[in-house]
Amino acid sequence: MERLDKFLSNAKIGSRKEVKKIIKNGLIKVNGTIIKKFDFKISNSDIIEFNGKQIEGHKLIYIILNKPKGYLSSTYDTKDKYVLQLINHTYKDELSIAGRLDKDAHGLLFLTNDGTLIHKIISPNKNIFKTYEVKVNGKITKEKIEKLENGIQLKDFKTKPAIIEKVENNIITIKISEGKFHQIKRMMASVDLEVVDLKRIAIGNLYLPEYLKIGEWLEIKKPDIFNDS
Ligand code: URA
Repeated sequence: MERLDKFLSNAKIGSRKEVKKIIKNGLIKVNGTIIKKFDFKISNSDIIEFNGKQIEGHKLIYIILNKPKGYLSSTYDTKDKYVLQLINHTYKDELSIAGRLDKDAHGLLFLTNDGTLIHKIISPNKNIFKTYEVKVNGKITKEKIEKLENGIQLKDFKTKPAIIEKVENNIITIKISEGKFHQIKRMMASVDLEVVDLKRIAIGNLYLPEYLKIGEWLEIKKPDIFNDS
């Protein structure tokens, strides 16, 4: 159950103040009857009309973006380019980012207005594995991979176990369940490897589709992020 005025403002009919006026003027019908009470309780099955046109309820939206390098993972910035500039969606102003990427990193970015899901994704006790493809300068040895996999003592914390696969001579995929500031770069630096390219390919069970070009976004249905993590 939801208040009629809240439903209308969430559906972008107007501000809370404006929708109160609209309701008072008798422009809203619920199931065919004019309702003039702001706090009238409506449910999902009710049909709400404004000036004879049915209003769709507020939607939870889920967006994946193939973030290009050079964009900040933020919803606004005065100086730099930021990822929200790449997304053109009615609800774009409500989006939050679940797990940022550095400005020089690229790949999967997940944005939603579903606060409950964001909270779950960024919660440290959820242990969601994020998968990165990392190109490095330096020699990737078995010993270094073992060290990284077992957990590495950084200045301020010890990393949790990671899962690593060597893709090519200077490229690995690494899965980590944390998301501390510059974590991959710091982990690599601690075994004398310099990151030259960092791409996120998955968050939990949500993978960046190969067909999604750099800078493109896609609205998806609620993802099953926690399935394999
Ligand atoms: N680790 C990093 O160092 N940078 C990122 O953007 C993500 C993980």
